[in-house]
Amino acid sequence: MSRDVIVLGAGLAGLSAARDLALAGSDVLVLEARARVGGRVEQTTLPDGRVVQLGGELTGDFQHAYIGLVEELGLTLESSYVKASGDESYGLIEGVSRGDWMTAEQRVNHDRVEAEFCRLATTVNPADPWSHPDAALLDNTSLADWLRSVGGGDEALVRSRALFHLGLADGSPERLSLLAELRKQAAAGATGFYDEARWEGLRVAEGSATVALRMAEELEDRVRLEAPVAKVEIAVSGCTVTLRGGEQIKAAAVISAMPVGPLRDIEITGVSDARLKSFARQRSAVTAKVVAAYASPVWEQAGANGLAYGEGLVGSCWTQAPPGVVSVLIGPERIGVLLAAGSEEEVCSDVAQDLARIFGDAMLSPEAIFYRPWGVDPWTKGYVTQWRVGDVLGVGPLHGTHEPPFYVCGSDQWVCGYMEGAVRTGRGAAAAALGLPAPEYESRLS
Ligand SMILES: Cc1cc2nc3c(=O)[nH]c(=O)nc-3n(C[C@H](O)[C@H](O)[C@H](O)COP(=O)(O)OP(=O)(O)OC[C@H]3O[C@@H](n4cnc5c(N)ncnc54)[C@H](O)[C@@H]3O)c2cc1C
Repeated sequence: MSRDVIVLGAGLAGLSAARDLALAGSDVLVLEARARVGGRVEQTTLPDGRVVQLGGELTGDFQHAYIGLVEELGLTLESSYVKASGDESYGLIEGVSRGDWMTAEQRVNHDRVEAEFCRLATTVNPADPWSHPDAALLDNTSLADWLRSVGGGDEALVRSRALFHLGLADGSPERLSLLAELRKQAAAGATGFYDEARWEGLRVAEGSATVALRMAEELEDRVRLEAPVAKVEIAVSGCTVTLRGGEQIKAAAVISAMPVGPLRDIEITGVSDARLKSFARQRSAVTAKVVAAYASPVWEQAGANGLAYGEGLVGSCWTQAPPGVVSVLIGPERIGVLLAAGSEEEVCSDVAQDLARIFGDAMLSPEAIFYRPWGVDPWTKGYVTQWRVGDVLGVGPLHGTHEPPFYVCGSDQWVCGYMEGAVRTGRGAAAAALGLPAPEYESRLS
């Protein structure tokens, strides 16, 4: 028996592609390596009923594909941590600062350079950064070098962006492509270096992983778990997908909804060398997330609001929806210390100690703490797309495109990852496989 479409991976991209195909009457099967759906969105429930997010959490008002899906599924959007009042904390090497750590003069320069960055971002088409007249120059310039040149050598400016990027865990600005950053912010309307309200101002009240769980419920037995794909043979006359155990499944078309790391581990035949080279050039930032749950918002004892950027292990810290719960990201340039630790207990203790440095000793004793080393998880091998200097041109315009009957989706195939990228490309791949026009939000950039 041959299916109409096989989808590889049951993350948000694969599930949203399969859902649209199933709604259109296609015979679709999703193959998922793990024993659960959701991929990089995952949640767990504490003994007291609090639901905590161990992967992707936040969305924003310009993320039309994700928001549209959430509404279709009957779920609710609410404001996120960005509405928290009180002072943010900065765990700087020389000590902890509450509130802005820059001088007034440095802040004025920061805002001037940010306006210049936004102006430059409006010259980049996020769907086609390669056509920019200065594409090569911008891609071969690091964000930090550009900040130094436009900022008059102001190292506080570079440091503030380093704090942010290591907090977001997409890498040091010394190595990030300026073109990639401009492309990303152009997709969000170029309203800032990273307009947190636009990128992270909303979350799903029922829990972000509920989006994946709801789609899987709708798809019923069209999702097969613990079915890791080893090989994909693409041909117009029919495609064959081989699982690690040797079982073969046939389909007229295949949609890859896998992250770029695991995708490189499978054997693919019948697609162009140029596409395989483009996949090989894509990279994902290697990160870890730690979630710590306390009986109450204990950071308030220190006069803090639970939001922090740090130059130690903690890259960033923010509050989740249930009271007393914080998320922590460990950036790609710091995760080595954790990977070298002898046990998960040791990792959690290291992170709790850095939280205590920023927010006080009450952070040392969480009721529960979770460690997810997404960067080395064999089914993820990353977190969000990482564009180092030269990578936008290296990956090239095949990024996010299809080669029928092989279709490609997944957040790594959008400008910069994110749940929006997963849903946008997933639904786009389904439309392409069905021969339908691209969804309307494809032409709405912000
Ligand atoms: C810690 C963390 C925090 C994040 N925070 C945010 C956030 O706040 N907001 C936001 O928008 N985004 C965030 N993201 C990013 C966002 O979660 C992801 O970009 C998005 O969920 C990816 O969806 P996807 O479907 O493209 O890929 P994935 O979710 O990675 O799904 C791919 C699926 O493919 C499966 N797979 C892999 N290999 C195989 C194989 N060989 N055979 C079969 N199946 C396979 C995987 O198991 C997985 O289920 C975060 C990510 C992480 C890790």
